[in-house]
Amino acid sequence: MTRTLEDYRSIVGDHVVSEIHRRASRLYSKHVLHVNSAYQGGGVAEMLAPLVHLLNDIGVPTGWRILHGSPDFFMITKKFHNALQGDPVNLSPVKQRLYAEANERFSFFTHIDHDCVIIHDPQPMPMISYYRKRQPWVWRCHMDLSHPNPELWSFLKRYILKYDRVVVSDESYHQPDLPIEQVVIRPAIDPLSAKNAELPEAVLTKALRKFEVPLDKPLITQVSRFDKWKDPLGVIEAFRLVKDQVDCRLVLCGSMASDDPEGQLIYERVRRQVNSQNSRRDIILIAAENSTLVNALQRNSAVVVQKSLREGFGLTVTEALWKSRPVVATRVGGIPIQIDDGVNGFLVEPADIRSCADRIVRLLKDRKLAEDLGRKGREKVRDNFLITRLLLDHLRLYEELLGTVRG
Ligand code: UDP
Repeated sequence: MTRTLEDYRSIVGDHVVSEIHRRASRLYSKHVLHVNSAYQGGGVAEMLAPLVHLLNDIGVPTGWRILHGSPDFFMITKKFHNALQGDPVNLSPVKQRLYAEANERFSFFTHIDHDCVIIHDPQPMPMISYYRKRQPWVWRCHMDLSHPNPELWSFLKRYILKYDRVVVSDESYHQPDLPIEQVVIRPAIDPLSAKNAELPEAVLTKALRKFEVPLDKPLITQVSRFDKWKDPLGVIEAFRLVKDQVDCRLVLCGSMASDDPEGQLIYERVRRQVNSQNSRRDIILIAAENSTLVNALQRNSAVVVQKSLREGFGLTVTEALWKSRPVVATRVGGIPIQIDDGVNGFLVEPADIRSCADRIVRLLKDRKLAEDLGRKGREKVRDNFLITRLLLDHLRLYEELLGTVRG
């Protein structure tokens, strides 16, 4: 990636670019480190790539390390992920030990002499126990923490309590039992990435052709990791109801994240469901990590769906709104931060498949309404959820933690 902050000036304006440079100048020579557990797949890696790149571009030297773990380790941390979003968990001593040991091993060869350390999500959380702490550490949780499993939460607290700040995506994720300051930073998308930039029509068409997605009927799309919280089977159910009224196609596009071992299992479940019903090839299932394809799918969708049961924020919603697409999504987690129902998209309750289908049909039939919602969606993202705003929030956080704030 060779982009610089200058490239964003035409999108966000002089004021934002100047403010970023002004804040960055207070942090010159400060060395920041981010640690997560996947290079690609999922929203965290999607944000870290441009964020880390831009921090370096503006003179705040920032590193990015990716935790190494065995399949067993990632199996355990996926269970923790599910439990943090509300599932029951069997917290055996073996799991606790494997979780800590992978972090201890990683810390052995990951030398930290930075001025500030940001740890993303639960996988690398125990790292903090294996260093003599000489700088502020932040735990950045990207998940939907509205119903964390109490047993797991109380286990993880032994680590969380060592941190200086907890950062979440929404106020509703604040945990009442933490004596640590909890702050909100909203996620954001990179408008210039291959996934979000305006690419030539020929490039988009080529991607669709490569993955055999015809445009002869209106497309309804959900782009999401194959994960039960994204409810792909619920999307198929809603699509069946839509199909009774309007002829259209459904595309379910999902990549597999390297730190998510459940992906293959869920994918197989969805594939069986599609094969058992898909007599006229009206449901297209794609398992691939391809940003241009995601861009092409979102831009060519008549309606974008995000039928999550839990959702930390939902960058797929942001991406679709930015492309002026009408979105039908569930009223869970971070989605209502982005969609005002009936203004820049539609919100439905997660169990209400009928309403989900009805909203999709309405948008398929009323293109003027669809365009209107889409236009407002783009404005919402421009004002709130672009990478430059995320960059500013990070600079503010580092300034505050490093005591470099000036008047
Ligand atoms: N994504 C992708 N290909 C896929 C599925 C997802 O590139 O097949 C991307 C998606 O475009 C978004 C991110 O992965 O940028 C998912 O982020 P989100 O916050 O929606 O959900 P998460 O996966 O982090 O739960």
